[in-house]
Amino acid sequence: MPDRILYCGFNGRAAIGAVDANNGLRDLASYPAGAAATDWTQITALSGDRILYYAKNTGRIAIGAITPGNGLRDLASYPAGAAATDWTQITALSGDRILYYAGGTGRVAIGAIDANNSLRDLASYPAGAAATDWEEITFLGSSGKPSPWAVLLCQFSDAATPPGFSRKRFDELFTGAGTGKLGMVDFFRDMTHGNLDLTTSRAFGWYTLPKKSTEYTGSGANPQGRKDLITWARQTATAAGVYLTPYGNRICVVTHPPTDLFGGPDGACTGDGRDGNGMTSLSPSLMGQEMAHVYGLDHSWAGSTEYGDYWNTMSTRTPYMTPHPVYTEVDNQSRPIWRMGPA
Ligand SMILES: [Zn+2]
Repeated sequence: MPDRILYCGFNGRAAIGAVDANNGLRDLASYPAGAAATDWTQITALSGDRILYYAKNTGRIAIGAITPGNGLRDLASYPAGAAATDWTQITALSGDRILYYAGGTGRVAIGAIDANNSLRDLASYPAGAAATDWEEITFLGSSGKPSPWAVLLCQFSDAATPPGFSRKRFDELFTGAGTGKLGMVDFFRDMTHGNLDLTTSRAFGWYTLPKKSTEYTGSGANPQGRKDLITWARQTATAAGVYLTPYGNRICVVTHPPTDLFGGPDGACTGDGRDGNGMTSLSPSLMGQEMAHVYGLDHSWAGSTEYGDYWNTMSTRTPYMTPHPVYTEVDNQSRPIWRMGPA
C-alpha cells in the first residue's frame, strides 16, 4: 500500500491521497463539503489506521478509522467537555501515547489510547512547563518500520481457572507499554538491528472462544487445526468490534488454558504452557521464534540437527538462556518461569 494522506478542510470536505514509491501524488477518495464535522481543529493519526479528531471550541473528541478501501468510519465519540478546550497541538507518540500542548500557556499533557479506543491521562505539566509560542509539534518517530501485531487473548469455553498473569502483563509483553522491559518490542528491535518497530502492537481480550479446549485438534501433524484456532480467534475478536485488517497476518493468539506453541503464515499461538525446565511458552525467546516464523524465517540448524544452534533464537529451546531480569516469577521448584536468550 502506498503512503496515504488524509486532507481535511474547514468546511468538512475531506480527501484521501497517496504518495507512491516513485513520489507520484495520487487521489484515492474524495468526500464533499459537509462530509466531516466542521469543528475539528486537530486531526492526528494513531496506530491501527485510527484517527483522533479534536474540537478545541468544545473539547469534543472522536476516534475514527480509515479502511483499506479508503472509507472513513467512526469508532468512538466523546461529547463536548470530554477534553480540555485549550489544546492547540495534538501529536501521536510511540506506544499509543498522545501529547497535548496548549499554546498560549505552555500547558502539556501526555495521554494514551487503548485497544478499546478509551483515552486516559498519563502525565500532566502545568502552564509554563513548555514555551508558549510553538505552532506545530511533530513527533520525529522511531527509525524502524512499523510492524504492529494484534495479540488476541482467548479463553476456551471450558477454562476452569482465570489466566495466570494479569492483563497488564500481556500489554507489557507485546506492546509499547512494555518498551524497555525486554518483551517482544525490545526483542524485535534488537534482533532486527532496529529495522522492525512493534511498538504499536495491541493486545485485545480476554475473549471467550465458542470452543472447548478439547475441540482443539492442531499440531505439527495437523496444520489445519492450528489454522482453525487462528480463525476462531479472529472471528471472536472481529465480532467484539476489533478491526484486524491493519495487522495482516501478524496475529498472535494467546490461549487459556494453554494448548500449543507455533508460528506460521497465518499467525502465531502461545499460552502459559510450561516445558520440562519450568519455562513458560510466553518467554520472549520462544515467542520471538514463533513470531519470526510469521515473518517467514525457518528454524536454524547445527550441521544436520534442526534446532541445534546454541546461539540462534530460531533453534527454540536449544539456545543458551538466562532468567528474565524484569519478570522474576519462579515455579514451585524455584525455577525461573521467564527466560530470555540466546545469552
Ligand atoms: Zn518453530
